[in-house]
Amino acid sequence: MTFFRSSKHQRLLWSLLLLSVGAAAGFGLGIFCGTEPPVGCRESDLTPVPDESFVSPASASSVETSPEPEPMPEKWVCLTFDDGPSKTTPDVLSALNRAGVKATFFVVATGNNDKYLPLISEAAAAGHQIALHSASHEYSDIYQSADAYWKDIDLLKERLSPYVRADGLWYLRFPGGSTNTVSRRYGGRGLMQQLKEEVTAKGYAYVDWNVCAEDAVGGKPSAGTIFRNIVRETGEQTQCIVLMHDSATTRTTAEALPDIIQWYKDNGFAFLTVEQAVPLPTT
Ligand SMILES: [Zn+2]
Repeated sequence: MTFFRSSKHQRLLWSLLLLSVGAAAGFGLGIFCGTEPPVGCRESDLTPVPDESFVSPASASSVETSPEPEPMPEKWVCLTFDDGPSKTTPDVLSALNRAGVKATFFVVATGNNDKYLPLISEAAAAGHQIALHSASHEYSDIYQSADAYWKDIDLLKERLSPYVRADGLWYLRFPGGSTNTVSRRYGGRGLMQQLKEEVTAKGYAYVDWNVCAEDAVGGKPSAGTIFRNIVRETGEQTQCIVLMHDSATTRTTAEALPDIIQWYKDNGFAFLTVEQAVPLPTT
């Protein structure tokens, strides 16, 4: 089975599932987390229960007939960074590179971070995964309609194209996560479901998280707080996708990284990029 769920923590809900629509298929990892509203993953935007309708029994059987996947480590963690690149990104990259750890960056290209976009080439060259987040990251814009969403993704890919092979980017993270409710204000109740289906049909994979650093909350949490949030939210989970940020306002995340990495190492986790942990379907 590719779909599973555990609820060690009441506040955390974790589901891994495969979607398939015709020949195109993709993974979604639907999770919500956090008690406080991080910028870019505000709790108020996230529904407590992922939309069950994207769990498809047909998709499970499509995986069982796929070729045998590479054996996965028993415990793994994907460190993911949203909302960069920014002035914080060099510090994040040097902490990762010093530790010899690969991470995944869900990037934005708002127009305000133009001068940091070359860091994407640097990150990719160092073996990190670049993935799609949003061009504008404006909920009121991107969640007006499915057309508006795809226009934003197209613009993002266009802005990234000088720095990375944009047509090779097949992983994305919805601003607010795949179970956000903020989109209803602009595009109606059915929009996220429609977008998830379209994402899958186009061959992309969307990825949420099951550990939230809560590093983008108001009040600028210290490195120690971010570290403790991650340890607490990891709990007994052995397969973790950690949401952090490398935006201009989350400088303490970079400071916390050496301790975060050491803690996962000490607890026997292997570090994977999202594409290593959640492979795209081969069909
Ligand atoms: Zn974001």
